[in-house]
Amino acid sequence: MKAAVFKEKQCLVVEEIPTPSPGPDEVLIRVTQCAICGSDVHRFQHGLLRPGAVIGHEFCGIVAGLGGAVDQWTVGDRVIGGGGARPAGAQPPPSRAERYSARTFGFQSQVFGGYAEYVVRPAWGILPIPQGVSDDAAALVEPCSIAVHAVRLSRIRLGDRVVVVGAGPIGLMCLQAARAAGAAAVYVSEPVEARAAAARQLDADAVIDPVNADVVAEMLDLTGGLGPDVVFECSAAIGTLQQTMEMVRREGQVVVVSLAWVEEPVLSVAWVGREVELKAAYGADPVDWQVSLALMEKDQVRVEPMLGSDSHVPLDGIQEAFESLIKPGGTAQLIVVP
Ligand SMILES: [Zn+2]
Repeated sequence: MKAAVFKEKQCLVVEEIPTPSPGPDEVLIRVTQCAICGSDVHRFQHGLLRPGAVIGHEFCGIVAGLGGAVDQWTVGDRVIGGGGARPAGAQPPPSRAERYSARTFGFQSQVFGGYAEYVVRPAWGILPIPQGVSDDAAALVEPCSIAVHAVRLSRIRLGDRVVVVGAGPIGLMCLQAARAAGAAAVYVSEPVEARAAAARQLDADAVIDPVNADVVAEMLDLTGGLGPDVVFECSAAIGTLQQTMEMVRREGQVVVVSLAWVEEPVLSVAWVGREVELKAAYGADPVDWQVSLALMEKDQVRVEPMLGSDSHVPLDGIQEAFESLIKPGGTAQLIVVP
């Protein structure tokens, strides 16, 4: 089969590798789409992978082969590559370890991923795609699950006013998940016009350009001078963490979803006096995937505004696609079609 193999920092080569064969409790999946995650771009950009690795964790596909002990799937079933409930006794993923740090532990994966024609997954680990959920949406369940996880961990209550800082794929999912969770208004901070436009299409109540406006003052204005109840930091741009803490209301909550790879300046004297709360959210649990699929099925999470006519790239174009994503660009989301 064809797969995009990591060779060295910023170098992926599409080549023939052996098609994996499923073990007794495993399923072979023919990948139909695999979305490019920001964390994959980090892995590529900084060389955080072992040579020979095939990554890609945001994929959907069709069951193409079954291990001998598998009876819950049929060849031809449409599935996503994660979100199944872990059986009792199975190890939690390393990212849930007691002292896990994405900085020191990294996020290397030993598992072959979806930038390939086929992958193998444990039969319990995947989920069926409901009828009416498109392949485009199914490929984006994983990033949606990150946003759903963050919203479920947050203190959002019915009628709250929410700010999402950064309208990349995760931010746009947070916007929709916060709305589904009962936010009365969701305001977005985003400087890139294509992403701001996607936020508007997804019914953001206002989109502020933080480069050409005082975003803290604008968000205070929009919330009658109080500040938002909950802010989701989905940007990791320099200075945005400080902005979230300055804009959030007294005793409000900031949820950090983004991963900053460079130090961010923070000046606590500006916000400690309001006793604000800082909370981190990372990864997702099976329930978050399941909630994501349910939201997509009910059209409460939509992906079309995140995609453009140039969003789908063939496997052979993956190197160029990753190079383009290193530079902050216009397209909100790229999806590899192996
Ligand atoms: Zn991802």
